[in-house]
Amino acid sequence: MTTKWALVLHGGAGPIFGQDYSAQEKHLASLLKDGGKRLADGEAAVDVVEAMVAAMEASGLYLAGKGAAPNLNGDYELDAAIMDGRTRNAGAVGALQGVRSPIAAARMVMDRTPNVLIVGESARRLADAAGLATVTDPAAYYEPVDERTRQVGAPEIGTVGAVALDSYGDMAAATSTAGVMNKTPGRLGDTPVIGAGTWADERCAISCTGLGEYFIRANAAADVSARIRYGGDTLVPAVQGALDDVKRLGGEGGMIAVSADGEMAAFFNSGGMKRAMADSNGRFEVATFL
Ligand code: ASP
Repeated sequence: MTTKWALVLHGGAGPIFGQDYSAQEKHLASLLKDGGKRLADGEAAVDVVEAMVAAMEASGLYLAGKGAAPNLNGDYELDAAIMDGRTRNAGAVGALQGVRSPIAAARMVMDRTPNVLIVGESARRLADAAGLATVTDPAAYYEPVDERTRQVGAPEIGTVGAVALDSYGDMAAATSTAGVMNKTPGRLGDTPVIGAGTWADERCAISCTGLGEYFIRANAAADVSARIRYGGDTLVPAVQGALDDVKRLGGEGGMIAVSADGEMAAFFNSGGMKRAMADSNGRFEVATFL
């Protein structure tokens, strides 16, 4: 065990210019303190990223978990994924309804099934059988979507994500989302697609946010690792290169990343990204716009 750790969080790459995100920034700062302490105390990266994302889901402050927006049919279909870089075990859920914490459901898929991705009603039944908290009255549980967000019709909303390097040198990533605003029923974005929106291995851990279709087509999260592995890049140029590829296809969004040597990155090509990073060297930063 070393004393080295690093933690990066995001609350989505679709903030609306002029809107006040101080509540989210305050929340991200408190999560950084909590997560940093857990990592310093020797908690595993995979447990810390799950806890960070679960807290963001439960807060109702982001368009994921309790803050989720409905699809075109008015249903709340949520996606989430978690990946443990130490083992490369991964779990994900897609188009999941009726479960409070999609990231807990993704963890359940990782830990308790031989599968990586389970969607829809089957995922819900498994979550129920595992005793995960349910949402019985969606209209009462989910926060109403902010009127301004609805008017702007912003295609990007507020995915949440966390990546961490723990004191054993292992990394993990977790991402949770309601997808994009007014999405087609059954549509899955990059978040639950391992390699596209979420990735962790022995080189890096990545969580993406933005227009998921482009991140899937760029296989964006795993591309960061490939650039390190085959191109000899360090983390920052690897993340920039992967995001440039998303942009070349016409996509907007951002990524958070950590590397095995404790480098951190939080980049976006959209107007902003709610983000926070801290490490064992005392770095502690929270921001939304540039
Ligand atoms: N990437 C998410 C999706 O396409 C949306 C987001 O990041 O806000 O489902």
